[in-house]
Amino acid sequence: MLVSYSVKGEEPVVIEALKVRALPEGSYDRLLEFLRLYRDVVQMVVDRVWSINDKLSKKKLHKLFYSNLVSMGFRAHHAKEVYVYAESLVESARGNGGRKPILRKLSARIDRYDYKLDLDNMVLTLKLHNSYEARLKLVSSKERVEKFRGWGNYEVVVKYDGSGFWVSIYFRRAVKAVKPRTVMSIDLNFDNVTLAVLTLNGRLLKLKRFRTPHRKVLSHRIWVERIQKRYPSSWRFIKGVRKAIDRHGERIRDIPWDYSHKIGDLVAELALKYHSVIILEDLDELRENSKKSREFNKKLGLWFYRRIQFCIEYEARERNLEVVKINPRGTSSKCPTCGGKLDEYEHRVLRCEKCGFVGDRDVIAVMNIYKKYVSKYSRCGVPGVALNAPKPDESPSGMRGTKMRL
Ligand SMILES: [Zn+2]
Repeated sequence: MLVSYSVKGEEPVVIEALKVRALPEGSYDRLLEFLRLYRDVVQMVVDRVWSINDKLSKKKLHKLFYSNLVSMGFRAHHAKEVYVYAESLVESARGNGGRKPILRKLSARIDRYDYKLDLDNMVLTLKLHNSYEARLKLVSSKERVEKFRGWGNYEVVVKYDGSGFWVSIYFRRAVKAVKPRTVMSIDLNFDNVTLAVLTLNGRLLKLKRFRTPHRKVLSHRIWVERIQKRYPSSWRFIKGVRKAIDRHGERIRDIPWDYSHKIGDLVAELALKYHSVIILEDLDELRENSKKSREFNKKLGLWFYRRIQFCIEYEARERNLEVVKINPRGTSSKCPTCGGKLDEYEHRVLRCEKCGFVGDRDVIAVMNIYKKYVSKYSRCGVPGVALNAPKPDESPSGMRGTKMRL
């Protein structure tokens, strides 16, 4: 159901699609006829744009197709949707080095000027070509729809799958950021997601660590490789072996999805409780930062981290919380007190060459991320925090050990 959020101008928005079955009232011949016509016309525009072999501006597209489509009985917005959609199909096919797109499915995108949505009565009225209107009864539970009250909707996609109609309604909601009272900095690495919540003047309110399922995923991978090695040429053809591989494959796919969603929810709930602005490492910058990125890529690649970040960001924005990304350069190699170079001291513990400061690797990272944000976005100082590591999935109430002045 989740589509994506995007930034339109300055104002971030959340976008979600609701897909429901739709029952046309009365005969649906005209609706089917419209879907066929829509498909054929999109194909016609695709054929033409494909043959031109050059990127066309919106203006050029309009000039080429608009009046033609309108004269065929399409409403103004349908006409625009048709050529914009056709052009995007051609663009993406060319981008993938693919062949000319051939449309088979019956599906039409209809923008908000050409439909009326009545959520109270669950009725969708479509304004089709030649000013014909089709009414569809939407089949869905009240709970699913309730969520979207107060959201705007801007487009519907109507589909016919051979046995019935489906409608996807695209909802959009502007996100107004909550004014942050605290800062939550988050560090992702192979084993842990570590987060710290601090006040703007540096008081530590919460330090928490979640274990990642990276190693679990990795062990499933190793199993697959082992099986494939044992049956190098035959594993595809032996039913039992293939089944075992499928089972591991399923886990490899499911674990990251389930985990990302869960962690996104947990983190955003915590940030909501503390009215935090959430600070994440910018993964695009990370790619430049060769040492850490090698460590990442070696194992599973960046996509899992991206997935986790996406979920944190999505869940945060759903709660009107602000998310900021900072360049992670130096956050795992510099001393949070004096900025000196850190060396490995014990397993996962680092020590500063210059001032002798010792701290847990992940906690150092979240403190440095916090410091970077504060020095960039606020004028407040960053005083006393102790840097003992919490155990995974624990939330230490107070901090023990060395008091550090940052
Ligand atoms: Zn130092």
